[in-house]
Amino acid sequence: MSRMPRVSIAGGSVGGLTAALVLRDAGCDVRVFERSSTALQARGAGIAALDTTLDYLLKRGGFQVTDVCSSTGWIRFLNRDGSVQYEQRHRYRFSSWNTIYRSLLGLLDAGCYRLGTEVTGFAEQHGTVTVTLGPGPQAAPGAGRHPSPQAECDLLVCADGVGSPARARLLPAVRPAYSGYVAWRGTVPEQDLSPGTAKILGDALTYQVLPDSHILVYPIPALDGSLTEGDRLINIVWYVNVAQGAPLDTLMTGRDGVRRPVSLPPGAATEAAVTGMRQAARDQLAEPIAEAVASAPEPFVQAVYDIEVPRMVFGRICLIGDAAFAVRPHAAAGTAKAAADGWALAGELTAADADVPAALAAWEQRQLALGRDLLARCREIGDSSQFLGTFRPGDPRLIFGLYGPGH
Ligand SMILES: Cc1cc2nc3c(=O)[nH]c(=O)nc-3n(C[C@H](O)[C@H](O)[C@H](O)COP(=O)(O)OP(=O)(O)OC[C@H]3O[C@@H](n4cnc5c(N)ncnc54)[C@H](O)[C@@H]3O)c2cc1C
Repeated sequence: MSRMPRVSIAGGSVGGLTAALVLRDAGCDVRVFERSSTALQARGAGIAALDTTLDYLLKRGGFQVTDVCSSTGWIRFLNRDGSVQYEQRHRYRFSSWNTIYRSLLGLLDAGCYRLGTEVTGFAEQHGTVTVTLGPGPQAAPGAGRHPSPQAECDLLVCADGVGSPARARLLPAVRPAYSGYVAWRGTVPEQDLSPGTAKILGDALTYQVLPDSHILVYPIPALDGSLTEGDRLINIVWYVNVAQGAPLDTLMTGRDGVRRPVSLPPGAATEAAVTGMRQAARDQLAEPIAEAVASAPEPFVQAVYDIEVPRMVFGRICLIGDAAFAVRPHAAAGTAKAAADGWALAGELTAADADVPAALAAWEQRQLALGRDLLARCREIGDSSQFLGTFRPGDPRLIFGLYGPGH
């Protein structure tokens, strides 16, 4: 067998970490460069955890599902008056971005993962990629005055997310397409809710369908990972239409006056925006859902985008996860897709006996198809809810899944 490649990975979130672990296991020499200077914290709040998101932890990491996921037994749609519009038995597993990140990170050798290190450039020559590194945006003043360090590798995997600087460099014509809506997100400790509300929301993925909008609520692990009932967090995701232009600009401009392109982190939304959202919750939502929304201490906003790339491979450089296809969250499959990209890459490298160009060529065909299918499915669900008025409780297309509803 040939020597497996040296791999650099730009971005150390769920996609970058899973790729690092599966490529390391396949025999690659792996380095991850993450621009955030502190271990990533509390980002993205809750996630529905599909099999592929959990595969590494469960199959190779020694974790049990119950170590990292809460689970619910029902899908339930509430009417405005709190009565049940529709319900079905369905088991979902929910986790938090934090729990998955921390668990994956613990399985990677510490020396392979460099925080506070931004990939600022790359170039390929004679079968080697030279990656230029900077100190990251939160670095102390004065850092980075020395010549930029570089890393050499045989393969650069860009897992740098929805705002991917690598994509912007490789495919400048690809522009994120704003969906026309944002997600208001937040979490509230179960114990801060009234007992009745905690009981209703504690064992279900709870929806409410509104005109041109819908909201989902589900339990996730506490920040310290605890899954004990009462300690958990209740996670909210409320899709709200906000027109492009001045309305979106106003919402996405935080209390510090900075206009964020994709997400306003916890604590950054203006007082007026938070007050308006909480008032809308009281006016429009079923009481238990409204209580959870109004009690979430630091709601945050993510603008929802479609991103589709025509290629994922550029010589010995590839895009994975949200850096390639960022899809609306309605299949809850973003982290699973990012993980699937990494698993498939490791598989193709092994099958191609470490021949990087051959492996990437086979990999790209499959992962482009996966990204396109998922994007189309999520776009259809989002449009049916937010614009077409055809989003129906109990529609089997709403079951989360990476390869199709429920898969
Ligand atoms: C409202 C909403 C709800 C969602 N719900 C779910 C859900 O229930 N289930 C689910 O699976 N997914 C969900 N997602 C999607 C999920 O969050 C993303 O698909 C997933 O985080 C993508 O992972 P990634 O590793 O590709 O990118 P990201 O998580 O965005 O990570 C990119 C990383 O790259 C780093 N970086 C960027 N540039 C550089 C650079 N130049 N150098 C070094 N590092 C860099 C960033 O700091 C970041 O850590 C949701 C998304 C939204 C918006």
